[in-house]
Amino acid sequence: MLELKNITKEYRTGDQVVQALKGINLKFRSNEFVSILGQSGSGKTTLLNIIGGLDRYTEGDLLINDRSTKEYKDRDWDTYRNHSVGFIFQSYNLIPHQSVLSNVELALTLSGVSKDERRERAREVLEKVGLKDHVTKRPSQLSGGQMQRVAIARALINDPEILLADEPTGALDSETSLQIMALLQEIAADRLVIMVTHNPQLAEDYSTRIIKVLDGEIISDSNPASEIEIRDSKILKNDKTFMSFFTALSLSFNNLLTKKGRTLLTAFAGSIGIIGIALIMSLSNGVQNYIARIEEDTLSSYPLTIEESTLDMGMIMGALMGVNTEELDEVEEGEVAGTPIMTDVLATLASRKDSNNLTAFKEFLEEDAAVQENINAIQYSYNIPINIFNENGVDGVVQVNPSNVMNAIGMGQAMDAQTSNPLQSAMGGGGMMGASGVDSWKELLNNQELLESQYDTVSGRWPESFNEVILIVDENNRVSDYMLYSLGLLSQEELSESFQSILEGKDYELSDIPTYSNEELLGMTFKLVLNTDLYEKENNLWANRSDDQAFVDEVVANGEDMEIVGIMRPNPEAVTTGETGSIGYTSLLKEHIMQAVNGSEIVEEQINNPEINVFTGLEFPENANEEFDFAALSDEERAYMATLSEVELAELLNTYQDNFNATYESNLATLAAVDEEKPSAINLYAKDFETKDNLEAIISDYNTRETDAGRDENVITYSDLVGTIMSSVTSIINIISYVLIAFVGVSLVVSSIMIGIITYISVLERTKEIGILRSVGASKRDISRVFNAETFIIGLFSGLLGIGITALLNIPISVIIKNMTGISGIASLPIEGAAFLVLVSLVLTVIAGLIPARMAAKKDPVEALRSE
Ligand code: ADP
Ligand code: MG
Repeated sequence: MLELKNITKEYRTGDQVVQALKGINLKFRSNEFVSILGQSGSGKTTLLNIIGGLDRYTEGDLLINDRSTKEYKDRDWDTYRNHSVGFIFQSYNLIPHQSVLSNVELALTLSGVSKDERRERAREVLEKVGLKDHVTKRPSQLSGGQMQRVAIARALINDPEILLADEPTGALDSETSLQIMALLQEIAADRLVIMVTHNPQLAEDYSTRIIKVLDGEIISDSNPASEIEIRDSKILKNDKTFMSFFTALSLSFNNLLTKKGRTLLTAFAGSIGIIGIALIMSLSNGVQNYIARIEEDTLSSYPLTIEESTLDMGMIMGALMGVNTEELDEVEEGEVAGTPIMTDVLATLASRKDSNNLTAFKEFLEEDAAVQENINAIQYSYNIPINIFNENGVDGVVQVNPSNVMNAIGMGQAMDAQTSNPLQSAMGGGGMMGASGVDSWKELLNNQELLESQYDTVSGRWPESFNEVILIVDENNRVSDYMLYSLGLLSQEELSESFQSILEGKDYELSDIPTYSNEELLGMTFKLVLNTDLYEKENNLWANRSDDQAFVDEVVANGEDMEIVGIMRPNPEAVTTGETGSIGYTSLLKEHIMQAVNGSEIVEEQINNPEINVFTGLEFPENANEEFDFAALSDEERAYMATLSEVELAELLNTYQDNFNATYESNLATLAAVDEEKPSAINLYAKDFETKDNLEAIISDYNTRETDAGRDENVITYSDLVGTIMSSVTSIINIISYVLIAFVGVSLVVSSIMIGIITYISVLERTKEIGILRSVGASKRDISRVFNAETFIIGLFSGLLGIGITALLNIPISVIIKNMTGISGIASLPIEGAAFLVLVSLVLTVIAGLIPARMAAKKDPVEALRSE
């Protein structure tokens, strides 16, 4: 069955050539106990390794089943070792971190035998060698003789035809040696046993044939086999060995389990990089969330505003700061020159006053899908005053909005507004009630989600219809007393009197500012008054009755109810919020007012008769603002005027004068009748700075398109104050992001190098194990599989460990940052990021392990076995 034909073996170390075997010719019977005797260094081990397929011969041939092995591939040798050969070594070569049972099972694992069968067969063999009671022990817990029995059991597990034993008793005392020899003799009863020994007595007593070797040559053979004797050889099994990746995984997993502490440390070392990255990711995620929140909040307070008529404040500020005057001529020594700053401001003012066609732009905004993607909300402003009264204020009927509070202390002038609001004369004797300056009622963004992220509900709910509003308090549940005066909860008269006292140098006294329960404020109602409500038709002409207090009071009493349905407070997480200490109404209110005003009798009449001034019944003059020209009057008209009393005449002249100043448009503006398609300003609330840039690009594209289409009048200009201020913030944010990315990159490199080194150390450590695996038939691929499986497990584990540790670390880090800065949730790892990092850890570890695994696979099994 086995025949060596003129086998030689040369070892080359540098220039030196050692002839370990010098032409060995041997035939073996399928069933005999052969002892090979010889001095140390005579080539016995080399011979045995060549027979066992562990080492390759240099020349000659080894015939297995009459078949030459010259053409044997690695796989053939692996199969041969796994199925046909069992090895026993002087130093036992057991895998120390695996139990006796697992050590014995090893060869079966490689042959792909099921786990149950493996167990059963391993127990059987162990019982045969007398180790039934020691299966769960570690090799280190056994005596030398017991360890050699384990090695024998391992060699026998696959029921091989050939058992090769290299000085099996070399490390044992004489009594144990005898026991092992007896065992080997028993085994040799039905197979070929070749044993190397330098104990002639043992060889004499137990073996059936003694071959003596000297300096790589056979010097005697006590019982050479004949050609005929080896003819009736057994057929060697020819299955291929195969280890599935799953088998490799479970092998490695068990292997790792047996050295938990080591694995934990390895995984921890590997996870340090991952922890670093995960922490940076957590922080940058938190910071980015925070920045996004600031951006959103900032941009919801400072939208991109496009007004009907606009002035580029950025340009003016630039001019004031001298930014535009870089290219000035050099001033001669001894001379002083002026820098044009005011000149530039004027030039800017002159060149930049523009009128935007917001009707066309609104149409564009509503149709363009890209706009919708980039905004949180759009707000259309119209020149319509929100006239709100409180019927039951402490001073009686109080105008709540626009507020009169500043007038009470004589500062109304400062809050001037230019609208021709009929209410200007209604209350407080014609004070200047700015329609814009003292608006304490503000329109809420029509993005409920954004609102709810910025405000917490203190009490009540969000408004759902036009006549529902909310009171916005600050984070300490306070509103300014200005607001309380405005709402009519505190006395404006008292305020005014105190102001007078101060002017007169007297002492003054104000009541304490009370505290209100939520219930008192919720359900508080106000009256909505339309500009058109203040006109009454007399003698077919519409007259402004706002100077008639009784009339106004009645209008107020008949006004629609507005109710406070909720009290909201800025969310402490929201960095900046739009409004605090004000009343917030929905965009529905403006829509409602517009519809009501446009549907009113007076407005309809004016619109149906665009030529006739509804206030005077006269035709609008062709050119507004002309002086009244008596010379142009007809005789008839002069005669009629002569019949009038002085008062009547004055009234008539007034009417004429009014008429001369009026236009169709100015009348509609007075009545606050506006076209929904013609806003006075558009506020675009971007989501963040990126979408804001997108919006600006969209507007710029729109301008280009309109210009190209020859519609220059539709080109939109606007000033972007926030943009000017925030552009530096954005660049700082970007720099921070890049630095973080660089950190992440470095951490990744460090982490993968670390993992590679750890795997390499593991390979070095397990060299012996590699030799053992090879000796029981593991192929090169199996070896690399085992290591790849190991790095796979370690990579997965260190990834998960890293994420786990990071998640734990994030808790105290968040607390510390919260204590230091008041910003909560800064360290938070996003789930996708965590999954990605586990994957990165896995991939990097496996990649880093590939080279060491290949090195392991390439190791010469003989050398590997010889290593310590
Ligand atoms: P034995 O087992 O009889 O003591 P070996 O077969 O181990 O002898 O060695 C035979 C000869 O080959 C010795 O001279 C030894 O030094 C040499 N030898 C064995 N292995 C190697 C090797 N890997 N490289 C170089 N020389 C070797
Ligand atoms: Mg030897």
